Amino acid sequence: MDQPANAKDSPVTRYRGRFAPSPTGPLHFGSLVAATGSYLEARHHHGEWWLRIDDIDPPREQPGAAAQILSALERFGFQWDGPVHYQHQRTAAYLEAIQRLRDLGAAYDCGCTRRDIAAAGREGPNGRIYPGTCRHGLPPGREPRSIRLLTRGMRVDFDDLLQGPVRCDLERELGDFVIRRADGFFAYHLAAAVDDGVHGITHVIRGHDLLWCTPPQIAIQRLLGLTSPSYGHLPIAVNAAGQKLSKQTFAPPLDADKAGDQLWQALMFLGQEPPDDLRRAPLRELWAWAHAHWAISRLRGRQQAVVDCQQDSPAQP
Ligand code: GLU
Repeated sequence: MDQPANAKDSPVTRYRGRFAPSPTGPLHFGSLVAATGSYLEARHHHGEWWLRIDDIDPPREQPGAAAQILSALERFGFQWDGPVHYQHQRTAAYLEAIQRLRDLGAAYDCGCTRRDIAAAGREGPNGRIYPGTCRHGLPPGREPRSIRLLTRGMRVDFDDLLQGPVRCDLERELGDFVIRRADGFFAYHLAAAVDDGVHGITHVIRGHDLLWCTPPQIAIQRLLGLTSPSYGHLPIAVNAAGQKLSKQTFAPPLDADKAGDQLWQALMFLGQEPPDDLRRAPLRELWAWAHAHWAISRLRGRQQAVVDCQQDSPAQP
């Protein structure tokens, strides 16, 4: 497989993208879209593309899924830079981040159960909003369960590379969110924010379903003094019923025996319009075409999913 110019050693190049699947099952078409978009955009900027396995949620993980994901990516012809990063090996970094957030007075213990929150919280665009019960200390007789981030007065505004300006009043729209769960596992927002920041990821290109996750992740990075990447949220693939393709909606796994055809479809979905005759061509020819023609601007403003944080009018192409 031809490797496009990778200017990893050039001091001029700063772009570093990444793909970060969770090993909860095999990759499906929606994952291929996110991988392809982030990969081609990174290579277009002569940048690096890192691979991170987000394996911090054992109850949701499937044995063997991480290995299956790596093998599928390889068979589809993706080439990542450096070693694969595994979040389960990053416990020390997450603990240190939580300690720093505590020292800043930005994180606190929470003794509430789901039932408490269901009873006292209000409904927000992304689920129940924590009512702030333990903000000033645990009520008498309560044991700490989870750790939450204090969002008092916190706003995060950012310019999404594809969706335009996004504004989020974290306190009102999300509330004090969990950074360490009651079962002891680290929350996705914390782990993603720390890794993207510490690994020097400059651009996160991922599915639009994760748009609402960006403000809390930027908030954590700001508190920790980490530089936030630029974010671009790709349209997501939905099924005929309008549901996002995911393991929960039984999206079929990728079939590496049909890698060329499926990659062609992913490029089509990403608005790149590869020529028909490449659909059955050797994979490397399709990649060569994709590297030569990739234009993320074709995707500006396309979302195919409900935006939960307030969003201004999409950026003009
Ligand atoms: N691991 C997350 C997922 O598979 C995505 C992480 C990200 O791109 O930030 O949904």
